[in-house]
Amino acid sequence: MTTEAPLVLYNSLTRSAEPFQPIHPGEARVYTCGPTVYNFQHIGNMRAYVFADTLGRTLSYKGFKLTHIINITDVGHLTSDADEGDDKMEKAAAAAGKSAWDIAKFYTQAYWADIDRLNIRQPAKWSIATDYVPAMIEFAKEIADKHCYELDSGLYFDVSTVPDYGRLARHSTDEGEGRIETVEGKRHSADFAIWRKTPAGETRQMEWDSPWGRGAPGWHLECSVMSEALLGHPFDIHTGGIDHREIHHPNEIAQNQAHSCDADSGARIWMHNNFLIDRGGKMSKSSGEFLRLQVLVDRGFHPLAFRLLALQAHYRSELEFSFDNLAAALTRLKRLVMAVQPLRVAVETEVEDRRLLDLLARFDAAISDDLNTAIALTALEEAAAFKKVDTGQKRAVIARMDAVLGLDLLALDRANLRVRPADAGISETEIDEQLALRKEARANKNFAASDAIRDALIAKGVEVMDGDPLGWDWAVKLN
Ligand code: AMP
Ligand code: ZN
Repeated sequence: MTTEAPLVLYNSLTRSAEPFQPIHPGEARVYTCGPTVYNFQHIGNMRAYVFADTLGRTLSYKGFKLTHIINITDVGHLTSDADEGDDKMEKAAAAAGKSAWDIAKFYTQAYWADIDRLNIRQPAKWSIATDYVPAMIEFAKEIADKHCYELDSGLYFDVSTVPDYGRLARHSTDEGEGRIETVEGKRHSADFAIWRKTPAGETRQMEWDSPWGRGAPGWHLECSVMSEALLGHPFDIHTGGIDHREIHHPNEIAQNQAHSCDADSGARIWMHNNFLIDRGGKMSKSSGEFLRLQVLVDRGFHPLAFRLLALQAHYRSELEFSFDNLAAALTRLKRLVMAVQPLRVAVETEVEDRRLLDLLARFDAAISDDLNTAIALTALEEAAAFKKVDTGQKRAVIARMDAVLGLDLLALDRANLRVRPADAGISETEIDEQLALRKEARANKNFAASDAIRDALIAKGVEVMDGDPLGWDWAVKLN
């Protein structure tokens, strides 16, 4: 089937769209900056993984043998991306009265559960930062003499020792972010910690011996070490949220250049998803109850409605979150699931229908154009809406498109897409029982009884939807 359009991806390094040319023919090696597991991930973070997953799925669909690595940061990430503040893990552990290791385990599991609920494919490997500390020390030893200097607080990377520091962030132009000097004795404000010594008289829960004293690795080191260990130098694509374009990724690039003794940034293409925004400030993890996937599920939304919401925007655009937008995405998902439901029993056959082939070509052109999921979705919807068409061919087209978009359309159960808030005052079984009684009353022309049942349901927040075009018999109203 059609995958003819050349795959073009926007490279943050050059600020331009470039044809994807793999380093190893036929392969694609991708590294994604993963979660810092000191807390749950918020839905903004999840947007970053939906994007990385869509990229991975697209590379597979285009025929590349994909090796995707996502890391788990369980050490080293400070409360500020610059070298400032406490270690996020140690701080969370102290607040919870638990060990940092237990905290990491708990939030890693929670993250994996969310990944699963969003139908994000498993990467080739989840690389765990603490498994790589000896490798980080080796890497640091190799670059220390030429590129680092030691202060009382640790070993620091001197950014003037590599060419073009900050090119990714455009630090030297007006696009760059201002920086604040935060560590006493740093040679340049952009210099960053490679190793953070445990202050004299203190112990950290997570600390290791090193040539620079007992301590913990700087946050940026892990991604350089793990990406090189698992994908080689250089590899194809590195992804993360747009915030990483400013500090984390420029620092990774500097380390990669130092270690490889060449100007290569480590990855050929650096891709960044833009932010999911919540105007109510509920995305901030310091804001008490923040927006994580479970909050959406508790409000009654299927997690894949969030995936669809994310796909509706281009990954490089900001996207505003609201429950209204989520509800609209859910309705769109419901329509798609209903349209493809008759295909469940169909057997896929080769696509010959001209109109379906045209739609596949449109889909291919859109997704190959720097992952234009918004347009790709409309091609999928048009295919789903085709009526007079061979069901085997139609199923093959839907399956092919959904392999990229990951909405699980041919398996999703329509009933599971109902809005079902966790705090609803009535169970689904009760609703179904009452509706069966109402049907019986109506069949017996006992309209007083049927109206009474309906009123009682309304009082409990249940809207009875007779003749609803999407075929829902009822909906629980949101508070
Ligand atoms: P963290 O756990 O803070 O290291 O973040 C995990 C990933 O989420 C990183 O790739 C961040 O760049 C990304 N990210 C953080 N906030 C947002 C947001 N509001 N929208 C989209 N991506 C985000
Ligand atoms: Zn990283």
